[in-house]
Amino acid sequence: MNNPRIIQVALKVPFTSLLDYQVPAGWPLPPPGTRVSVTLGNQKNKVAIVIGYSKVSQHKKLKPISAILDDQPLLNETLLTLFKKAAQYYQAPLGEVIHMALPRWFKQYKNKTIPKQYWWRCVANPDTAKPLLVRSKKQQMVFDYLFKNQPVQAKDISHIETSSAAILKQLEKKQLVERSELCFIDRKNPIQPEFQLTKDQQKALDALTEQHHFSSHLLDGITGSGKTEVYIRLIQKHLRQGGQVLVLVPEIGLTPQLFSELSERISGRLAVLHSGLSDGTRARVWHQAQAAQVDVIVATRSGIFAPFKRLSLIVVDEEHDLSYKQQDGIRYSARDLALWRGQIDDIPVVLGSATPSMETLFLAHQGKHQWYKLRIRTNQKSLPKTCLQNTRQQKMSHGLSIASINEIKKHVSSGQQVLVFLNRRGWAPKWLCHDCGWVASCDDCDAYLTFHKNTNLLVCHHCNRTYSIPEFCPDCGSQDTGVMGVGTERVAAGLEQNLAVPILRFDRDTIKSARDWQTGLEVIRNGTPCVIIGTQMLAKGHDFSQLSLVIVVNVDNSFYSADFRATEHLAQLLIQVSGRAGRADTQGEVIIQTENPQQPFFQQLLEQGYESFADIQLKERQSLQFPPFSHMAIIHAQHKDNQQLTDMLRPAISLQQEHPDVVVLGPLPAPIQRKQKLYRQQVVVNANSRKALHYYLNQLKTTLPQKLSWIIDVDPVVLDS
Ligand code: ADP
Ligand code: ZN
Ligand code: ZN
Repeated sequence: MNNPRIIQVALKVPFTSLLDYQVPAGWPLPPPGTRVSVTLGNQKNKVAIVIGYSKVSQHKKLKPISAILDDQPLLNETLLTLFKKAAQYYQAPLGEVIHMALPRWFKQYKNKTIPKQYWWRCVANPDTAKPLLVRSKKQQMVFDYLFKNQPVQAKDISHIETSSAAILKQLEKKQLVERSELCFIDRKNPIQPEFQLTKDQQKALDALTEQHHFSSHLLDGITGSGKTEVYIRLIQKHLRQGGQVLVLVPEIGLTPQLFSELSERISGRLAVLHSGLSDGTRARVWHQAQAAQVDVIVATRSGIFAPFKRLSLIVVDEEHDLSYKQQDGIRYSARDLALWRGQIDDIPVVLGSATPSMETLFLAHQGKHQWYKLRIRTNQKSLPKTCLQNTRQQKMSHGLSIASINEIKKHVSSGQQVLVFLNRRGWAPKWLCHDCGWVASCDDCDAYLTFHKNTNLLVCHHCNRTYSIPEFCPDCGSQDTGVMGVGTERVAAGLEQNLAVPILRFDRDTIKSARDWQTGLEVIRNGTPCVIIGTQMLAKGHDFSQLSLVIVVNVDNSFYSADFRATEHLAQLLIQVSGRAGRADTQGEVIIQTENPQQPFFQQLLEQGYESFADIQLKERQSLQFPPFSHMAIIHAQHKDNQQLTDMLRPAISLQQEHPDVVVLGPLPAPIQRKQKLYRQQVVVNANSRKALHYYLNQLKTTLPQKLSWIIDVDPVVLDS
């Protein structure tokens, strides 16, 4: 069929990339990047994105599109190029990539107007406000909070005052506060700190300032060395030249901190973007960025897909962080996409970290990233003193050694705060029979059950199925069953018995909302002596100025892990967690409880530091020909029958014969062999060249049986997920 009005659209449909539709006569031809609605089979009003035009189609009779949904393309050329590249690289259909990247708002056919939202800030200072607030304690409280935390939305204050929205309106009448309809702030008089940059900071900043085209940079600085300060000054320069800046951070929890830091220092319009925002808000930020109504966006992973009109710089903070890699659906790496986006937009990209990933160091060694090292803390304080504690020789109480408990007592009684880091929630990770050794495990998964005392249940952390406590051992009938090991709940209970200060627990069981976060963080920021028990969520980026002691519990699993990245991740974690201590005036102290103090890992890391640890890691990887010296992909597959699963994966192995440049291993049982009643196996593909890897994967896609449920993880960062 020859028809000049054929458009190709991307839709989320498995196994196909683009579909042809016809634009009815008399309608304008929608440009690429525009959303249209189409009928697919018998589904009406599916939202699709125009990718291109075509003069001919293989199909005789094309359906017409039913509506054009945008006046102007939602996705610009940069984004379309980025999506196409991601689709190719991660072996996913383009429609699926776009579907994943778009905020939900834009995937709905019926778009209401995007709802409005108000951000509040003070227009008076506390001194002038005071006489007007004497009659109302609540108004005073809300004003004080706002002054410290502005700009905020009314709902962000609801944790200190439920009627905050009404109180803000009263304050507005008194002309003490004002609101802005846009989800950003625009400070006219940014604060400029008094200090001078250190030589290393200046050197990095000077070099970065000169970049106006694509180039990639590694800002490799120990915690507290002033990386953020370099970002801030660089961002200021870009804003002065009329550019927009995207700053990626690994976690939602870190966006408010950087946001408020930037808001004080930058005269520009600032917005945040992350999955915790409502659909409407995310859509609004997209529109504002695209219209160049915001200057800086602080975003988590998915922010890499936001449209900008004049993007001129991308900063990826904590570039080593695993959260940048999406672990379900399309497994993209936002850090790697940031580098591609920098290339497409021809703008500089800055990766920052105290513990750069091996991939990034590898490229820095090769000169592909410019490398700046900041090795001195700006406050001249030395890094925290770290000591290893051999727990084999220690008496333990609820996961902590007596020596650790004494240290904690010492620090809190001198007015300091303590962080106990333990990456395991619940009371205990196992429930076992003391007579025969039986351990309670999930019927649906290949996993032990965790005991949670507050609910008095055993919980599978892989499928969330719960079980009641067995009255006797199902294997031998003994009644002598009980817990083994410790989780955060138990450590907290143990400390509550021993100490009179507040014990704060930060894990997924206690922190369920942004509000819980805020409430918890405020207690810490108040500076009251307390003990904080936290999982991963507290390890990163937070600045706690009163924190002087960090205790790390249970790191030993990493030494027995099958994942060749386990020690890299442990090293990064230990350095990051340690970095929380001693930011303020006191010398920080870190205690690592371990049963393996003799591990050479500790000597490398603690005596020689991360850089030399990384050198050794890289040499090992090179000798094994593992990433970053090779290119890897893992095929994850699952099925209810283990043998059938193996059989269906076999073609992946035999296909290797046609691909001498790749090494294929498997099918191997996944580290968690069964999850939610399904068996899980994987095939690991390792190749010396990216091209060879992709050539193999492309062919594999057409070789594996259609009824097999599987996904490809290109550049995996963890072996199981
Ligand atoms: P990082 O991001 O590397 O952890 P930050 O940029 O947060 O470090 O800096 C740590 C602290 O030191 C901040 O409070 C910052 O304001 C301050 N700071 C940064 N640069 C300097 C400097 N050159 N002199 C004095 N203080 C500085
Ligand atoms: Zn038993
Ligand atoms: Zn389970």
